[in-house]
Amino acid sequence: MYTTMDLSEILLYLDLIKRKGEVPTIDELNMMVYHMDNYDQVKAFYNKIKEHEFQPPFGFYIKTLIHFIEDYEGCISLKNKILRTQTNRRRPFNNLFTHQILLCKSEEEALSILQEARDYGIHLDDKLWVAKFDSLEEIKKKQKEWKGEMEKSEAYYNFSSIYEKFGTMKSNYFKSLPQEHLKKMIVEPQSQERGIVTRQTNTFTRNIYIKEYAKKIAQGICQLCDKKAPFLDKQGNPFLEVHHINYLSKGGKDEIDNVVALCPNCHRRIHMLEDEEDLKKISKNFSYLS
Ligand SMILES: [Zn+2]
Ligand SMILES: [Zn+2]
Repeated sequence: MYTTMDLSEILLYLDLIKRKGEVPTIDELNMMVYHMDNYDQVKAFYNKIKEHEFQPPFGFYIKTLIHFIEDYEGCISLKNKILRTQTNRRRPFNNLFTHQILLCKSEEEALSILQEARDYGIHLDDKLWVAKFDSLEEIKKKQKEWKGEMEKSEAYYNFSSIYEKFGTMKSNYFKSLPQEHLKKMIVEPQSQERGIVTRQTNTFTRNIYIKEYAKKIAQGICQLCDKKAPFLDKQGNPFLEVHHINYLSKGGKDEIDNVVALCPNCHRRIHMLEDEEDLKKISKNFSYLS
């Protein structure tokens, strides 16, 4: 079974683990990072880890983070951050120096990075920088290699069990959350929910709450055909899909007024036909419900 998690799900998962008083395992963290697409997402991920004071091994941070850095300045700022916070135990950052060399623009820069590495007792291949042709391409290649390695790991094979665990936690969480409370969490930029501070300052975290809100107000009924959801999911919730009335791709907003819960059939129908009567119905339905 193919399963995947988007960033908003991953951030919620970390919230829920914290809420249970547990700590994510390294395998879980690894799989979460595996699902990231870019540096901004990884940063949001690390901020959440910091917020909850989870303490994965230091090496894990460097190893995972550098795969997503695609610019020279990013390398330097990460390095400075590490130096600031890890003054007592300057772990070797072979990977980071290598990464930085791949991204630098001149031989002169490369040589000074090599020297800096030597000062830390790290001896890298002097010809490293000469081997690069298009650094960004090289980085992308390394990213791919890394993801390939991850796909061979045990954690990758166990991912569906991680996903299932999250499914259960998520389901219980949203079941226990009253509709009004959920709405408040979306509308208010910051809200406190039983000890969890959910910072909604970026769009990453909003998505999942908006989806769940749309499902909650639908109460298991498709908002186009008015029929019950065709089946229940593994957690026993009616299966409905969330649709954006004005497509996000066409500038529609990820807001509660722009989403409806539909049965899979009607969801297909809306996209295939874009029928005016249908659109009127889901829009009207929505303003009536909210
Ligand atoms: Zn329907
Ligand atoms: Zn849709």
